[in-house]
Amino acid sequence: MDTDFLKKNNLAEIKNSEYFIVDMMYSVPENITSHPVYEEVGFGNNAYVHIDVADKLNKIAEVLQRLNLKMRIRDAYRPPIAHQRCLDLIPVKGVFASKPENSLHCYGVAIDCCLTDMKGNNLRFPTEIDAYDKKYARQIAFGKTDEYYKHFEKASINFYSPNLFEEIKNRELLQKIMHDCGFESITSEWWHFQLPNGKEKYKLIEWNSEKETK
Ligand SMILES: [Zn+2]
Repeated sequence: MDTDFLKKNNLAEIKNSEYFIVDMMYSVPENITSHPVYEEVGFGNNAYVHIDVADKLNKIAEVLQRLNLKMRIRDAYRPPIAHQRCLDLIPVKGVFASKPENSLHCYGVAIDCCLTDMKGNNLRFPTEIDAYDKKYARQIAFGKTDEYYKHFEKASINFYSPNLFEEIKNRELLQKIMHDCGFESITSEWWHFQLPNGKEKYKLIEWNSEKETK
């Protein structure tokens, strides 16, 4: 990727390291759109975040080290053209923010993540990230969302079930780590974290595969 693009937009790259596993879900077809959207637009498996997010990730690395855990990064900066492609691929409204301007991923100040053990195995959580399941992705492609939305209730940071003791404990741990390091949550998605006042303080970042050399 053109380093000028990163520099001019105050972006930093999250690299695979002792603490972070870069595994962008929209770079492969196993996501709710069933398409490798980031590959299709030429963006690939790259995790970029605003330098203010990168700062906080350094703090998170210290915590992960103490806890003997790693973090899997499933989404970070999302190019607006990729967000638009997600919207175009899905024949129903509401699965994605209705336009790139409404998603802080497109500003570089949101990440989707979970915790893993030192070998990179995900800890258990109440749902997959994005509440993904191949079954739901297939239904959504046909415009059917009722089962998916029902399942999505388990993605809430307030969802509780006595049968999911470990999953909820891990969710709470992730929430605590992220809040302690300066991120805020959204109620509906346990895996999504963003900088407070993101829309007021940061800008939408355009990315164009024609212009930005890889
Ligand atoms: Zn997100």
